[in-house]
Amino acid sequence: MSERERWVPLSMTLAGIPLRGVSIAGRETWFHVPSLDLALDVGRSPAEILPAPNVFLSHAHLDHAGGLAYWASQRRLLRLPPARVFTDPAAVPAWNRILELHAGLEGVAYQVSVEGLAPGASVTLRKDLSVSAFRADHRVPTVGFVASEVRRRLLPGWQGRPEEEIRGAILAGEEVTRLSPRPLLAFSGDTGAGVVASAPREAFEAKVLLLECSFVEPEDLRRARDYGHLHVDDVAERADLFANEALVLTHLTLRSTPGELRRTIARRLPASLAARTVLFLPPE
Ligand SMILES: [Zn+2]
Ligand SMILES: [Zn+2]
Repeated sequence: MSERERWVPLSMTLAGIPLRGVSIAGRETWFHVPSLDLALDVGRSPAEILPAPNVFLSHAHLDHAGGLAYWASQRRLLRLPPARVFTDPAAVPAWNRILELHAGLEGVAYQVSVEGLAPGASVTLRKDLSVSAFRADHRVPTVGFVASEVRRRLLPGWQGRPEEEIRGAILAGEEVTRLSPRPLLAFSGDTGAGVVASAPREAFEAKVLLLECSFVEPEDLRRARDYGHLHVDDVAERADLFANEALVLTHLTLRSTPGELRRTIARRLPASLAARTVLFLPPE
């Protein structure tokens, strides 16, 4: 398979969540998740992610973020509504400068705001959808994200009580419900093994986890450590951590062919996890 074929966007529906993207170590990573109104990283900003009104940017490496100004510029050209970018607070001033410089050179104003989302903080995108950030373990400030469906649920004491009684309590101003988030989709950004300690439980309980796993060959373990990336052996070692319906291994290296990656990963992961693991690779 040629390098060009690895670069063709993939569409998948995982645990009922459709997503489309490209993810190749060092080259380009972006995912568009239309049902959640968001993109995770922008890569070189392909046309597919222009409609996303929210971008969650894990970090500033250009394989993930190179297209940010182009995305902002194209949204203006297409007269799309104002959009928001959420990223590590440490990177916000530099991104604002970069976008201002590009907008100035183009003689226009972009309708895009870059906002810091610190680890532990969250943002409400819709009444039924919130996204929180967590710290990832990489060479530059990096955050991962968890998108959760938010539902209102009855407090335990009110469950099973007659509807009329509940309605009466609501009318009387009593608190009978609480907001209950259910993690749908988590994204690790680029990360070393420290993410197992820094990510919240929800990341490993989300229906789908997009997990960076750049390397699979034993001789690349050192390389993974040096560059702040995960190796499949890191995933295998902590197999019991992953309660996700689908664990998606992304950011896979171009140094191995898809066939080699599939065979090695199948060999390294315990069967129970391998059965729930999806490789973000084109079909052979
Ligand atoms: Zn990367
Ligand atoms: Zn990176």
